[in-house]
Amino acid sequence: MRYEKRRTACISTQAGCAMGCVFCATGQMGFARHLTPGEIVAQPVAIARRLEAEGERLSNVVLMGMGEPLHNYDATLQAIRALTDPDGLGIGQRHITVSTVGLVPAIRRLAGEGLQVTLAVSLHAATDAERAKLLPVNRRYPLGALLAAVRDYSEKTGRRVTFEWALIQGENDTPEQAHALGRLLKGLLCHVNLIPLNPTGGMPAARRRRSASRPSRKSWRATASAARCACAGASTFRPAAASSRPKCCVRKPPQPDSRVKGARAFLMYHKVRKQRGATKDS
Ligand code: SF4
Repeated sequence: MRYEKRRTACISTQAGCAMGCVFCATGQMGFARHLTPGEIVAQPVAIARRLEAEGERLSNVVLMGMGEPLHNYDATLQAIRALTDPDGLGIGQRHITVSTVGLVPAIRRLAGEGLQVTLAVSLHAATDAERAKLLPVNRRYPLGALLAAVRDYSEKTGRRVTFEWALIQGENDTPEQAHALGRLLKGLLCHVNLIPLNPTGGMPAARRRRSASRPSRKSWRATASAARCACAGASTFRPAAASSRPKCCVRKPPQPDSRVKGARAFLMYHKVRKQRGATKDS
Protein backbone atom coordinates (compact mmCIF):
# COMPACT_ATOMS: atom_id res chain seq x y z
CA MET A 1 0.00 0.00 0.00
CA ARG A 2 1.45 3.33 -1.07
CA TYR A 3 0.79 6.19 1.27
CA GLU A 4 2.31 9.64 0.98
CA LYS A 5 5.22 9.03 3.32
CA ARG A 6 5.30 5.28 3.76
CA ARG A 7 5.13 1.99 1.94
CA THR A 8 3.20 -0.64 3.87
CA ALA A 9 2.98 -4.38 3.32
CA CYS A 10 -0.18 -6.06 4.60
CA ILE A 11 0.71 -9.69 5.20
CA SER A 12 -1.01 -12.94 6.15
CA THR A 13 -0.22 -15.36 8.96
CA GLN A 14 -2.63 -18.17 8.08
CA ALA A 15 -4.33 -19.65 5.02
CA GLY A 16 -7.98 -19.00 5.88
CA CYS A 17 -9.05 -18.20 9.43
CA ALA A 18 -10.81 -19.98 12.26
CA MET A 19 -12.31 -16.88 13.89
CA GLY A 20 -15.45 -16.67 11.73
CA CYS A 21 -16.09 -12.91 11.88
CA VAL A 22 -19.35 -12.47 9.97
CA PHE A 23 -18.29 -9.54 7.78
CA CYS A 24 -14.98 -11.07 6.68
CA ALA A 25 -14.48 -12.99 3.43
CA THR A 26 -11.55 -14.93 4.95
CA GLY A 27 -13.63 -15.88 7.97
CA GLN A 28 -16.25 -17.28 5.65
CA MET A 29 -13.62 -19.47 3.92
CA GLY A 30 -12.76 -21.30 7.13
CA PHE A 31 -9.31 -22.33 8.36
CA ALA A 32 -6.85 -24.19 6.12
CA ARG A 33 -3.51 -24.02 7.96
CA HIS A 34 -0.99 -21.88 9.81
CA LEU A 35 1.75 -20.29 7.71
CA THR A 36 5.34 -21.03 8.72
CA PRO A 37 7.62 -18.16 9.85
CA GLY A 38 9.39 -18.43 6.48
CA GLU A 39 6.12 -18.04 4.57
CA ILE A 40 5.17 -15.01 6.67
CA VAL A 41 8.56 -13.32 6.18
CA ALA A 42 8.64 -14.13 2.45
CA GLN A 43 5.70 -11.78 1.83
CA PRO A 44 7.30 -8.48 2.93
CA VAL A 45 10.65 -9.61 1.53
CA ALA A 46 9.09 -10.02 -1.94
CA ILE A 47 7.41 -6.61 -1.66
CA ALA A 48 10.60 -4.96 -0.36
CA ARG A 49 12.51 -6.31 -3.39
CA ARG A 50 9.99 -4.86 -5.81
CA LEU A 51 10.09 -1.52 -4.07
CA GLU A 52 13.88 -1.54 -4.01
CA ALA A 53 13.93 -2.07 -7.76
CA GLU A 54 11.92 1.16 -8.02
CA GLY A 55 14.23 3.04 -5.66
CA GLU A 56 11.82 2.86 -2.74
CA ARG A 57 11.94 1.26 0.68
CA LEU A 58 9.40 -0.81 2.55
CA SER A 59 8.76 1.15 5.75
CA ASN A 60 5.85 -0.57 7.50
CA VAL A 61 4.37 -4.03 7.91
CA VAL A 62 0.85 -4.70 9.13
CA LEU A 63 -0.19 -8.24 10.05
CA MET A 64 -3.76 -7.71 8.89
CA GLY A 65 -4.04 -10.03 5.91
CA MET A 66 -5.55 -13.50 6.07
CA GLY A 67 -5.76 -15.09 9.49
CA GLU A 68 -5.52 -14.17 13.15
CA PRO A 69 -1.80 -13.55 13.89
CA LEU A 70 -2.08 -14.41 17.58
CA HIS A 71 -3.70 -17.76 16.75
CA ASN A 72 -0.40 -18.61 15.03
CA TYR A 73 1.54 -17.05 17.89
CA ASP A 74 4.98 -18.70 17.73
CA ALA A 75 5.36 -18.35 13.96
CA THR A 76 4.17 -14.74 14.11
CA LEU A 77 6.68 -13.86 16.84
CA GLN A 78 9.51 -15.57 14.96
CA ALA A 79 8.57 -13.64 11.83
CA ILE A 80 8.47 -10.31 13.70
CA ARG A 81 11.90 -10.93 15.18
CA ALA A 82 13.25 -11.77 11.71
CA LEU A 83 11.67 -8.69 10.11
CA THR A 84 13.11 -6.36 12.73
CA ASP A 85 16.59 -7.93 12.60
CA PRO A 86 19.08 -5.29 11.40
CA ASP A 87 20.67 -7.98 9.21
CA GLY A 88 17.32 -8.61 7.57
CA LEU A 89 14.80 -6.00 6.44
CA GLY A 90 15.50 -3.99 9.60
CA ILE A 91 11.92 -2.75 9.93
CA GLY A 92 11.53 -0.74 13.13
CA GLN A 93 9.40 -2.50 15.76
CA ARG A 94 7.19 0.58 15.99
CA HIS A 95 6.52 0.25 12.27
CA ILE A 96 4.98 -3.18 12.70
CA THR A 97 1.31 -3.59 13.59
CA VAL A 98 -0.13 -6.84 14.93
CA SER A 99 -3.86 -7.09 14.49
CA THR A 100 -6.03 -9.29 16.69
CA VAL A 101 -9.68 -10.06 17.03
CA GLY A 102 -9.13 -10.22 20.80
CA LEU A 103 -7.41 -13.43 21.94
CA VAL A 104 -6.93 -12.33 25.53
CA PRO A 105 -4.27 -14.83 26.73
CA ALA A 106 -2.16 -14.13 23.62
CA ILE A 107 -2.43 -10.35 24.11
CA ARG A 108 -1.16 -10.81 27.67
CA ARG A 109 1.68 -13.01 26.41
CA LEU A 110 2.61 -10.45 23.74
CA ALA A 111 2.75 -7.73 26.40
CA GLY A 112 5.54 -9.66 28.11
CA GLU A 113 7.71 -10.11 24.99
CA GLY A 114 9.54 -6.81 25.40
CA LEU A 115 8.49 -5.65 21.91
CA GLN A 116 7.42 -2.19 20.80
CA VAL A 117 5.02 -3.28 18.07
CA THR A 118 1.62 -1.63 17.72
CA LEU A 119 -1.35 -3.70 18.81
CA ALA A 120 -4.50 -3.24 16.71
CA VAL A 121 -7.69 -4.70 18.17
CA SER A 122 -10.73 -5.38 15.98
CA LEU A 123 -13.48 -3.95 18.17
CA HIS A 124 -16.43 -3.07 15.87
CA ALA A 125 -19.01 -2.86 18.70
CA ALA A 126 -19.10 -1.36 22.18
CA THR A 127 -21.38 -3.87 23.91
CA ASP A 128 -20.98 -7.63 24.33
CA ALA A 129 -24.40 -8.33 22.79
CA GLU A 130 -23.58 -6.40 19.61
CA ARG A 131 -19.98 -7.58 19.37
CA ALA A 132 -20.85 -11.26 19.79
CA LYS A 133 -23.15 -10.98 16.76
CA LEU A 134 -20.22 -9.83 14.60
CA LEU A 135 -17.28 -11.63 16.22
CA PRO A 136 -17.95 -15.09 17.66
CA VAL A 137 -14.71 -14.84 19.69
CA ASN A 138 -16.45 -12.30 21.93
CA ARG A 139 -18.41 -15.16 23.53
CA ARG A 140 -15.13 -16.60 24.79
CA TYR A 141 -13.36 -13.32 25.56
CA PRO A 142 -15.95 -10.63 26.33
CA LEU A 143 -15.22 -6.91 26.30
CA GLY A 144 -14.39 -6.65 30.02
CA ALA A 145 -11.58 -9.22 29.75
CA LEU A 146 -10.40 -7.82 26.42
CA LEU A 147 -10.19 -4.21 27.61
CA ALA A 148 -8.38 -5.29 30.80
CA ALA A 149 -5.76 -7.12 28.70
CA VAL A 150 -5.41 -4.16 26.34
CA ARG A 151 -4.92 -1.75 29.25
CA ASP A 152 -2.20 -4.02 30.62
CA TYR A 153 -0.55 -4.16 27.19
CA SER A 154 -0.56 -0.38 26.93
CA GLU A 155 0.79 0.05 30.47
CA LYS A 156 3.55 -2.55 30.07
CA THR A 157 4.73 -1.39 26.67
CA GLY A 158 3.87 2.32 26.90
CA ARG A 159 2.39 1.94 23.42
CA ARG A 160 -0.82 3.49 22.16
CA VAL A 161 -3.26 0.79 21.09
CA THR A 162 -5.32 1.04 17.90
CA PHE A 163 -8.96 -0.06 17.79
CA GLU A 164 -10.45 -1.01 14.43
CA TRP A 165 -14.11 -0.25 13.85
CA ALA A 166 -15.67 -1.41 10.56
CA LEU A 167 -18.67 0.81 9.97
CA ILE A 168 -21.89 -1.11 9.24
CA GLN A 169 -24.63 1.27 8.32
CA GLY A 170 -27.46 1.50 10.83
CA GLU A 171 -25.76 -1.00 13.12
CA ASN A 172 -22.61 0.46 14.60
CA ASP A 173 -22.29 3.85 12.89
CA THR A 174 -24.69 5.84 15.05
CA PRO A 175 -23.74 8.68 17.43
CA GLU A 176 -25.09 6.50 20.30
CA GLN A 177 -22.58 3.78 19.40
CA ALA A 178 -19.83 6.38 19.11
CA HIS A 179 -20.58 7.66 22.62
CA ALA A 180 -20.73 4.08 23.95
CA LEU A 181 -17.32 3.57 22.34
CA GLY A 182 -15.99 6.67 24.06
CA ARG A 183 -17.25 5.41 27.42
CA LEU A 184 -15.69 2.01 26.81
CA LEU A 185 -12.28 3.49 25.98
CA LYS A 186 -12.33 5.94 28.86
CA GLY A 187 -8.81 6.73 30.03
CA LEU A 188 -7.11 4.36 27.60
CA LEU A 189 -4.13 5.46 25.53
CA CYS A 190 -5.62 4.62 22.15
CA HIS A 191 -6.51 5.53 18.60
CA VAL A 192 -9.73 4.55 16.80
CA ASN A 193 -9.69 3.68 13.09
CA LEU A 194 -13.09 3.87 11.42
CA ILE A 195 -13.05 1.63 8.37
CA PRO A 196 -15.53 1.78 5.51
CA LEU A 197 -16.72 -1.85 5.24
CA ASN A 198 -16.57 -3.79 1.99
CA PRO A 199 -19.67 -6.01 2.15
CA THR A 200 -18.97 -9.72 1.57
CA GLY A 201 -21.20 -12.51 0.30
CA GLY A 202 -21.40 -14.44 3.57
CA MET A 203 -22.83 -11.61 5.65
CA PRO A 204 -26.41 -12.01 6.83
CA ALA A 205 -28.67 -10.55 4.13
CA ALA A 206 -30.03 -7.62 6.16
CA ARG A 207 -26.52 -6.49 7.15
CA ARG A 208 -25.27 -6.91 3.58
CA ARG A 209 -28.06 -4.68 2.28
CA ARG A 210 -27.26 -2.01 4.82
CA SER A 211 -23.53 -2.15 4.15
CA ALA A 212 -23.95 -2.27 0.39
CA SER A 213 -25.55 1.17 0.52
CA ARG A 214 -22.43 2.65 2.03
CA PRO A 215 -22.89 5.47 4.52
CA SER A 216 -22.37 8.89 3.04
CA ARG A 217 -19.20 10.87 3.78
CA LYS A 218 -21.39 13.17 5.88
CA SER A 219 -22.64 10.26 7.98
CA TRP A 220 -19.08 8.99 8.53
CA ARG A 221 -17.90 12.44 9.47
CA ALA A 222 -20.74 12.78 11.98
CA THR A 223 -19.83 9.43 13.52
CA ALA A 224 -16.13 10.24 13.54
CA SER A 225 -16.75 13.56 15.18
CA ALA A 226 -19.06 12.02 17.80
CA ALA A 227 -16.46 9.36 18.56
CA ARG A 228 -13.73 11.99 18.66
CA CYS A 229 -15.74 14.02 21.18
CA ALA A 230 -16.47 10.98 23.30
CA CYS A 231 -12.85 9.81 23.25
CA ALA A 232 -11.48 13.27 23.93
CA GLY A 233 -13.83 13.67 26.88
CA ALA A 234 -12.87 10.28 28.21
CA SER A 235 -9.16 10.94 27.92
CA THR A 236 -9.18 13.60 30.61
CA PHE A 237 -9.57 10.80 33.15
CA ARG A 238 -6.00 9.61 33.03
CA PRO A 239 -2.92 11.79 32.95
CA ALA A 240 -1.18 9.49 30.46
CA ALA A 241 -4.07 9.73 28.06
CA ALA A 242 -4.74 13.39 28.79
CA SER A 243 -1.38 14.38 27.36
CA SER A 244 -2.06 12.34 24.25
CA ARG A 245 -5.77 12.28 23.56
CA PRO A 246 -7.14 9.25 21.78
CA LYS A 247 -7.44 10.14 18.13
CA CYS A 248 -10.24 8.93 15.93
CA CYS A 249 -9.94 8.93 12.16
CA VAL A 250 -11.73 7.55 9.12
CA ARG A 251 -9.36 5.33 7.18
CA LYS A 252 -9.21 6.14 3.48
CA PRO A 253 -8.78 3.11 1.26
CA PRO A 254 -5.34 3.23 -0.42
CA GLN A 255 -5.21 3.52 -4.20
CA PRO A 256 -5.16 0.10 -5.84
CA ASP A 257 -1.58 -0.69 -6.79
CA SER A 258 -0.92 -3.38 -9.35
CA ARG A 259 2.79 -3.48 -8.48
CA VAL A 260 2.39 -4.34 -4.79
CA LYS A 261 -0.10 -7.14 -4.61
CA GLY A 262 0.76 -8.48 -1.17
CA ALA A 263 -0.32 -11.50 0.71
CA ARG A 264 -3.24 -12.70 -1.36
CA ALA A 265 -1.06 -12.98 -4.46
CA PHE A 266 1.53 -14.85 -2.42
CA LEU A 267 -1.01 -17.35 -1.14
CA MET A 268 -2.53 -17.77 -4.58
CA TYR A 269 0.94 -18.41 -6.05
CA HIS A 270 1.62 -21.19 -3.55
CA LYS A 271 -1.84 -22.67 -4.03
CA VAL A 272 -1.33 -22.85 -7.78
CA ARG A 273 2.19 -24.31 -7.36
CA LYS A 274 0.84 -26.93 -5.00
CA GLN A 275 -1.94 -27.83 -7.42
CA ARG A 276 0.57 -28.09 -10.27
CA GLY A 277 2.79 -30.29 -8.12
CA ALA A 278 -0.18 -32.52 -7.33
CA THR A 279 -1.03 -32.78 -11.04
CA LYS A 280 2.59 -33.67 -11.91
CA ASP A 281 2.70 -36.33 -9.21
CA SER A 282 -0.54 -37.96 -10.32
S1 SF4 B 1 -9.84 -12.63 12.62
FE1 SF4 B 1 -9.46 -11.30 10.87
S2 SF4 B 1 -9.15 -12.71 9.13
FE2 SF4 B 1 -10.07 -13.91 10.77
S3 SF4 B 1 -12.28 -13.89 10.35
FE3 SF4 B 1 -11.85 -12.19 11.77
S4 SF4 B 1 -11.50 -10.37 10.49
FE4 SF4 B 1 -11.32 -12.22 9.17
